[in-house]
Amino acid sequence: MYRTNTCGELRLTDAGKTVTLAGWVQRARDLGGMTFVDLRDRFGITQLSFNMERDKALCEAARKLGREFVVQATGTVRERESKNTNIATGEIELIVTKLKVLNSAKTPPFTIEEETDGGDELRMKYRYLDLRRANVRRNFELRHRMAIEVRNYLSAQHFLEVETPVLIKSTPEGARDFVVPSRMNQGEFYALPQSPQTFKQLLMVAGFDRYFQLVKCFRDEDLRQDRQPEFTQIDLEMAFVEQEHVLSLVEGLAKHLFKAVHGLEFSEPFRRMTYAEAMRDYGCDKPDLRFGMKFHELGDLAKGKGFKVFDDAEMVVGINADGCAGWSRKQTDALIDFVKRPQIGATGIVFVKWTEEGLKSTVDKFFTPEQIATWAERFGMKQGDLLCIMAGRKEKTQKQLNELRLHLGDLLGLRDPKVFKPLWVIDFPLLEHDEESGRWHAKHHPFTAPKPEHAHLLESDPGSVNANAYDLVINGTEIGGGSIRIHERELQERMFRVLGFTDEEARYKFGFLMDAFEYGAPPHGGCAFGFDRWVALFGHRTDIREFIAFPKNNAGRDTMIDAPSRIDAIQLQELGIRVKG
Ligand code: ASP
Repeated sequence: MYRTNTCGELRLTDAGKTVTLAGWVQRARDLGGMTFVDLRDRFGITQLSFNMERDKALCEAARKLGREFVVQATGTVRERESKNTNIATGEIELIVTKLKVLNSAKTPPFTIEEETDGGDELRMKYRYLDLRRANVRRNFELRHRMAIEVRNYLSAQHFLEVETPVLIKSTPEGARDFVVPSRMNQGEFYALPQSPQTFKQLLMVAGFDRYFQLVKCFRDEDLRQDRQPEFTQIDLEMAFVEQEHVLSLVEGLAKHLFKAVHGLEFSEPFRRMTYAEAMRDYGCDKPDLRFGMKFHELGDLAKGKGFKVFDDAEMVVGINADGCAGWSRKQTDALIDFVKRPQIGATGIVFVKWTEEGLKSTVDKFFTPEQIATWAERFGMKQGDLLCIMAGRKEKTQKQLNELRLHLGDLLGLRDPKVFKPLWVIDFPLLEHDEESGRWHAKHHPFTAPKPEHAHLLESDPGSVNANAYDLVINGTEIGGGSIRIHERELQERMFRVLGFTDEEARYKFGFLMDAFEYGAPPHGGCAFGFDRWVALFGHRTDIREFIAFPKNNAGRDTMIDAPSRIDAIQLQELGIRVKG
């Protein structure tokens, strides 16, 4: 037997017991006649105590232990003289009588402590060492806990967890597919699922009624802090439901998680906002509601007065930063530098300050004090406030001002990660127009149904058609989304036509789904959540990699196993593939 107890288990009540522990050497301290070793495992740290007088040979052996050696120690539990109140086992120590090195270890490339000196790259290359760190491990305890809670909740609501295949045909969720060549069908490829969308709809046709799955999905996109090429979704689908049923079920799940993980009660229903309102008030479809700073347009008041930047703009829009009128020139210049960075690409900001001396703007040359007063009024501005105004093409300006709003929120400490503001964004447009290709794209995906009262406009005025599609947004992060689906062949065919598919293309790609619709498909709808993102949010972090055991880096590489990698000539030949260059 390697051990009788874990390193996190022993307390004062165990004093006098003889026990055996096994774990990793966190640290050894040599104090002349005494040596102390902190022994660590997943469950905690226990102090091992050695004494030159008591047992010279054993004490000398302890002094030779290096960091991260794997050891087994037997001894008696004793009350400690100097107690450590920071750890659960801090009142006791083990007076060691037997010590065995189970394995030695090279000196790790970074410190295995809460704070490490290892940079990201090193941590990922030696992820198995990084995962030994207690604060990293806690992320996985949180993840595990949330997965259990999701399963328990949905299971109690009569959902069945069903696995869907990983080698499939493309499902469009707006990204590129990862493809897998088929050896038995040369020249043909599987796609890895961007989501189980079509399969879960088929499970509804199958009469499963309520399906869910914690499922890996794959999207070949450029990576960011909150994106990985493979990620996990909580995917669910329900038959015989309208939007309201899905929202209330999912809201129940979210509230359950808030309660179980953070002890937070939300007695009120989550706030709802239409897509149109979100765009008008925050310039984005996932507003962070932890703070105000709503957008207000100023075009009607500010255009046509001879200030070219405004006159030429499609949109003039601003936000009011409470209490920032006292900001120095250096501080406001820093805001301009922020929006001028290439990632944001704005040309500048017009400021209006309301100080003790009254309203003062950076465009006083072009506008009368009375005119500027009308702007201040629109924002409900008070003395002490700072108005930030941007102008340009509508979509771009909305994006840029949204970035500035979030940045100001950060600077002003208004985005506390411990405060949660959930929001449903509803009534999304069904389609969006792509200027470049001149085509309509599905805003969500092509299986989303138009609102029944808008369906007749699908061909004549596609831009005006809304969908029963919804996103759950928490603190400016899109946690998930879904929709009520099309369940009739004819409507699905019309949808594909609007999206520019020929009937043959539609049949080639999605004939199986449309065929299934002809065998009694019930009305259905559902949604999916980014599980990694949700866990990160609950862990008060933005980087989802911290919650994925073996993540990829920004270039899509796993540097630990060194993937992707070449395959050998025989494999290529079997697959009927020749690599160019
Ligand atoms: N399949 C969708 C997605 O992955 C979610 C849904 O519509 O249920 O975003």
